[in-house]
Amino acid sequence: MKSSERFSITKIYIDRNSVNSQITKNTLSLLPETPYEIVDKLEKKGINLSDSKKILYLKENKSNFFKKCPGTPNYICCLYKVLHLAENCPMDCSYCILQAYFKNPYLTIFTNTDKMLNEISEADKKGVIYRVGTGEWTDSFALEPFGNWNQLLIPFWGELNNLFLELKSKDNNLDFLKYSKVHKRKVIISFSLNSSKIQQSEELNTTTIEERIKIAKKAYEQGFINSFHFDPIIYYNGYQKDYEDSINMLFDNIPENNICWISMGTLRFIPALKDIAIKRFPNSNIYFQEFHTGIDSKYRYFIKKRIDIYRDIVKAIRKRSLNVPLYFCMENRKVWESVFGVAPKNSKSLSNYLDESILKVSKNY
Ligand code: SF4
Repeated sequence: MKSSERFSITKIYIDRNSVNSQITKNTLSLLPETPYEIVDKLEKKGINLSDSKKILYLKENKSNFFKKCPGTPNYICCLYKVLHLAENCPMDCSYCILQAYFKNPYLTIFTNTDKMLNEISEADKKGVIYRVGTGEWTDSFALEPFGNWNQLLIPFWGELNNLFLELKSKDNNLDFLKYSKVHKRKVIISFSLNSSKIQQSEELNTTTIEERIKIAKKAYEQGFINSFHFDPIIYYNGYQKDYEDSINMLFDNIPENNICWISMGTLRFIPALKDIAIKRFPNSNIYFQEFHTGIDSKYRYFIKKRIDIYRDIVKAIRKRSLNVPLYFCMENRKVWESVFGVAPKNSKSLSNYLDESILKVSKNY
């Protein structure tokens, strides 16, 4: 089922300042039957998170679009940049940090795209490589049927010199394929992957792992760069074989020299997320394992368990590809050294490693 059919939008709120924006025009023409209301301010009004995933809110972004990824203090991070063009997501993963992250619960699309494009151009003029993503605070494809922003972003990105755009998703929207002639190998089509068992039990309303990889293959065939994220990796009895199945499916379909990176991260969460998620997902047991509190105050599996899990995943990947760049998202030096025998000197070194990879892969086609 296509995302536009899987997600039902029951109401659109339009901020008065956004009435004449192009995004608003797109949304109203894409959802002609959905009732809408023009508002001066939309309060939270005690709405629950499941209901708010059916409400679209179009408004201006009063802050910056182009931001540093918040990362996490005291761990090695990749110095990613986030393009803050929307908030929240119509899919529903039990582990999703967004449940506890934003005060605003609505599916929000920012309408002042001229400001966004201007900030992107200014960043490009700095003459340094930036890896930029739209999939941090929303899903890069899931809201596309209601806002059409990739139609604006992908051709624009193709003309930039130094910035690479990563569109990261668990959805099956294929609209990006319309821009196959204009991305100029500056756009990375990225999928979050997991074992199929976790996809079925913990990633509600998402598309299957098999379908994500099929879409990644279409992206490759149209000259886009690929990347993948095994995040969060979740421990359960027999996880090794299930994750290896997903890894094999990936390398059966995508050539290693078109993959700029694969990241890995085991389950981690702030205490507030657990309180929210166990009420919303009473059948999920992912929060009922042994965790310790990291120096960033997030819960993680104990270090020995994390190292064992990563060794299993890395071994399965290295059976299929000796060269694809791998990295950990928000891990400490001891984990890096135990799994790879070496750790990046600091976050800047990891960033440089990923920048070199994307420059190389962008020339590979
Ligand atoms: S797909 Fe990503 S953004 Fe959407 S609910 Fe799942 S984790 Fe959150």
